[in-house]
Amino acid sequence: MTIEAVVRDALDTLFRDHWPAGRREFLSAQFDAGLAWVHLPEGSGGLGLPRAQQSGIFARIDAEGAPNGRARNPLAYAMGAPTIAAWGTAAQIERYLRPIFLGDEHWCQLFSEPGAGSDLAAVATRAVRDGDEWIVNGQKVWSSMAHVSEIGMLVARTDPDVPKHRGLTYFALDLSLPGVEVRPLRQMTGDAEFTEVYLTDVRIPDSCRIGDVGAGWKVCVSTLMNERVMFGSGGSGPVDLALELARDSAELRRDPELRARLIRLWIRARVLRLTNARATTDTAGPQGSIGKIGYAEINKAGYELCMDLLGGESLLYDDYTTRVPEGWGQGIDGGDVRRRFLRSRANSIEGGTTEIMRTILAERILGLPPEPRADKDRPWSEVPRG
Ligand SMILES: Cc1cc2nc3c(=O)[nH]c(=O)nc-3n(C[C@H](O)[C@H](O)[C@H](O)COP(=O)(O)OP(=O)(O)OC[C@H]3O[C@@H](n4cnc5c(N)ncnc54)[C@H](O)[C@@H]3O)c2cc1C
Repeated sequence: MTIEAVVRDALDTLFRDHWPAGRREFLSAQFDAGLAWVHLPEGSGGLGLPRAQQSGIFARIDAEGAPNGRARNPLAYAMGAPTIAAWGTAAQIERYLRPIFLGDEHWCQLFSEPGAGSDLAAVATRAVRDGDEWIVNGQKVWSSMAHVSEIGMLVARTDPDVPKHRGLTYFALDLSLPGVEVRPLRQMTGDAEFTEVYLTDVRIPDSCRIGDVGAGWKVCVSTLMNERVMFGSGGSGPVDLALELARDSAELRRDPELRARLIRLWIRARVLRLTNARATTDTAGPQGSIGKIGYAEINKAGYELCMDLLGGESLLYDDYTTRVPEGWGQGIDGGDVRRRFLRSRANSIEGGTTEIMRTILAERILGLPPEPRADKDRPWSEVPRG
């Protein structure tokens, strides 16, 4: 039987036996059928088949109007789960994957700090071992949706006396633990979608450590590469919207260059979709940076074009009141087109900046000489910090 036929059979059985059904029942059955993350091993929500099959599975599920296990829990689905699958113990895979897919536990990413963004390996949050626990102190920032998450993907420094990449350890942090404080941060859209997270003497059980002590950088890279694949597989929202606005746009009739921009963008969005399809492999790798750059550029240019198609109306966004999203279900990319335009400015920063993506492609894909890194071999504790 071909791979496609195996997937089709599994989907047919799922729909025959479990649809229509309640959200939880359907998602649970989808997980058991191996159609949650089809590339993961059997028993972990997968069938051990190529990852490229997953988009077809979701297309069928969406077409049938069945519940969707990824939309309400995007960071956990696209970043947390593959990281646990790659680095977690059997007990952790059992503990975390099903609740992620059912949307019982939402995850956020606690990587960036005031002194560690592009240079993520410089994180200063400290985790010190105390028997079967780790005592964690530090501050994270730009933590999207931490206020509505149950678990944080946390990277902390466990050994300051070795070079920065070697002294890190990764944890799945229960955000309800004493000592975790989440404060909203307001963005230029008015939304407080991201937060800063203060960690004061938080006691994390060692059973929540993902990967070996000191191996946190490798685990982090798994999360980051999956994050870039997630961004890169974003839809063609702004281009579709620009096409819609173009139909009634007086600006378009006045300025033929707008039409040319629209067509160029439409072509770029198509090319990106095909490139992503070609670059999809079972393990997210550095090629994911291609999609991340393309997504950021198309989104930004697309919403800029939408603003130009609206003409003077584009200036009418005036709702800068602080709004704290109440749940993941609200989505972070929707709403008024003017709001989306403002939000899209972040696309070339979040998930790693476009400059950093270019460095990754230059070094890891094209094999160009690495950029100079003066602190690479010095113990982290001896590197001067501001
Ligand atoms: C909307 C949004 C959501 C976010 N969500 C999260 C989240 O959920 N969790 C999380 O952990 N983080 C999150 N971030 C943080 C994001 O990952 C960082 O902002 C990003 O990695 C850049 O780090 P920085 O802000 O410290 O900027 P810096 O690293 O200080 O960079 C400043 C500028 O210098 C450039 N630069 C820096 N180093 C180099 C270099 N070596 N070569 C060339 N140029 C360089 C950068 O490209 C950038 O233009 C989010 C950010 C945004 C905007």
